[in-house]
Amino acid sequence: MPISSNSRQNVPVAAIHFSTGLKNYAAVKIIPVFLPFLGCPGKCVYCAQDRQTGAGLVPGISSVLQTAKAALERQSAACELAFYGGTFTAMPQADIKACLDFLQLMRAGGKVSCARCSTRPDALAGPALADLRRYGLELVELGVQSFSDDALRLSRRGYSGKEALEGCRAVRSAGFRLGIQLLPGMPGCTPEVFLQDVEKALQEKPSCMRFYPCLVPDGTVLAQWYREDAYKPWSLEETVSALGRALMLAWQAGVPVIRLSVAPEPAFDSEILAGPRHPALGALAQAEALLLSAEKAVARLGRTPAALELPKCCQGFIFGDKGALRKRWQALGLPPQSITFTDREDALLC
Ligand code: SF4
Repeated sequence: MPISSNSRQNVPVAAIHFSTGLKNYAAVKIIPVFLPFLGCPGKCVYCAQDRQTGAGLVPGISSVLQTAKAALERQSAACELAFYGGTFTAMPQADIKACLDFLQLMRAGGKVSCARCSTRPDALAGPALADLRRYGLELVELGVQSFSDDALRLSRRGYSGKEALEGCRAVRSAGFRLGIQLLPGMPGCTPEVFLQDVEKALQEKPSCMRFYPCLVPDGTVLAQWYREDAYKPWSLEETVSALGRALMLAWQAGVPVIRLSVAPEPAFDSEILAGPRHPALGALAQAEALLLSAEKAVARLGRTPAALELPKCCQGFIFGDKGALRKRWQALGLPPQSITFTDREDALLC
């Protein structure tokens, strides 16, 4: 059967390929070095990095690096070293140098093949990026959170949407791969604002993105606003819906989304007062994105589909929580018996 892909609306075609983005991007194991709050200009209203990472407050750079060294020595293959959890490029110079010297040492010993760090878009001035480049970091993840001036102001981030964009461009023009982290549901961020943020982020051609739906950890300013009724977190339903749409946009652009929620951490989970926390949030968002992608593909196909082939990894979540999406698949003309799972990475609708 001839296979064709046609983007014109309502023109019947034999088959449609569409991207699911559901491939294994993490070929190299990442060893994280958590540096909660180090280098941060203040404590952001929603941030509980020390509990979120399970790392507590950093007792000192050398003990953190010793822990990372032990983790690297347990690995049989070279890993990626990732400096996470604070504002790496704004840490004291001595701490940055200790981390970069450690990276150099581990790389020379064959334990590390590549490295990344996370920082803020307004902490890239001066020699920060050039130093990282000299030591061979490849990827800089920016905690952009939003490009919306209103959301950034209401969340007291301390920079504008324009500065966030400039930060993204500075990272790429310094020769790094760019990661963009967004915080859907932060104060001032509606689902519409979040989708605009995703579109803006994709225009900056990132190598990866992360979405961290905003939660309300106790002990934060956000918890106080929540108690005063001055902040209302997104519901689980609106979060899944918005993440699904965002994920579909990223798949279409070929940009991997490497996290869809904060990783489970008992000390953090026990202190969440409210917000869209669900143990399978990522799978729920992927199921929604898959269905939205299939809906678009069926519209392009221009007729009732006969069959859909999907990557095997979709098998466990395609129908959503307790089969909640089964009816929507059925309404598309794709009952369970018409869907098969194969080794392919994209989807094929015919
Ligand atoms: S959100 Fe980022 S910049 Fe703000 S306190 Fe947390 S780690 Fe620091």
